Amino acid sequence: MNVVEIAKELIRFDTSGPPTREQPCAEWIRDYLIDLGVEAELQVVDEGRANVIGKIGKGKGPGLVLSGHIDVVPPGELDLWKVSGPYEPVVKNGSLYGRGACDMKGPDAAILKAVEDLVDSDFKRQLTVVFTAGEDTGGWYVTKVIEDGYVTQNDAICGLIPEPSMMEIIPVHKGSGGAFVNIKGRSAHSSRPELGVNAVQKAADFLMELRALQAELNKEKHPLLGPTTVECTIMNGGFKTNIIPDLAQLTINYRLIPGHEAPEVSKKWFMDIIEKLEGKDEDFKAELVRHSTNMPLDVPLDSLIVNTLKDILGTEPVGAPYYTEAVNYTRAGIPTVICGPGSIDQAHTADEYISLEQLDLGVKTFKETIKRICL
Ligand SMILES: [Zn+2]
Repeated sequence: MNVVEIAKELIRFDTSGPPTREQPCAEWIRDYLIDLGVEAELQVVDEGRANVIGKIGKGKGPGLVLSGHIDVVPPGELDLWKVSGPYEPVVKNGSLYGRGACDMKGPDAAILKAVEDLVDSDFKRQLTVVFTAGEDTGGWYVTKVIEDGYVTQNDAICGLIPEPSMMEIIPVHKGSGGAFVNIKGRSAHSSRPELGVNAVQKAADFLMELRALQAELNKEKHPLLGPTTVECTIMNGGFKTNIIPDLAQLTINYRLIPGHEAPEVSKKWFMDIIEKLEGKDEDFKAELVRHSTNMPLDVPLDSLIVNTLKDILGTEPVGAPYYTEAVNYTRAGIPTVICGPGSIDQAHTADEYISLEQLDLGVKTFKETIKRICL
């Protein structure tokens, strides 16, 4: 099959969710790989949900891992799909349309096509291909691939995930995280505010400090990512017009540059603000009730995979604002970058598409990367 035909087969499986059922599509991919002569297996991770792992040149020493995800986001309002139905792929005006065309069944097809073209070559290092469940729809089952030892440093020295990046090389992206802060007050009749403590107004003091924190963070810019950002994205407080509110709840979302990923770092930012405000205002009371962080991607710019792709594509690496599975591979000791065909602007939209030109560039680039690292 050519890359477009493979992509169409993948798009025809509805792997949206939740609830998501990737398994039939995963089985199709496994069978396709086996028909090519690749040693491939299914890793069932939940009911109806499965990853696929294929290995070429197994045991020849660690080489490259190419990894894509099988699931897609739901189609949304079907009326907005004008070119085709989400699971009825068509080619029009030089592009392939359908849910997942760019994120990332098109790129998955490019991996399969690269394997198909090179499978009979003399592999000097192992090529591993992985297709995961639950990247966009909950589950993040790449963790199972790694935890259960399906892909280790014995399989790969570097990795590539073709999330749509218009074939830009992305070795770094921000980590993310969230915190919940409860600001506590004391309720009173709003005609006698002096008898209470207005939690919503105290929350305003906290937000002002958050703004000052951002000004500090802006001084430390990553060359490709800019600064860490900290934003209060949800604010709740108060329940009746004539009652001084006794509780305000702030949801804070942050995007972390490398160096800020340790949970203690961001935790300290919020604890420092709380302590500072409690120190100068005896009525200010707040509690950090939840706090979490996800690692940024931080593959060295002079690593093998970055240099290989730079050489093939003739472009310089850039940063990305979104979070990917590359972090999981990189943390497992396999430096992994993002570089895939299609634009992230088309991901998750109605009439999602990928240009055939990008798809072909994907296949060409993955083949060349495999040649340089595994052949
Ligand atoms: Zn994706």
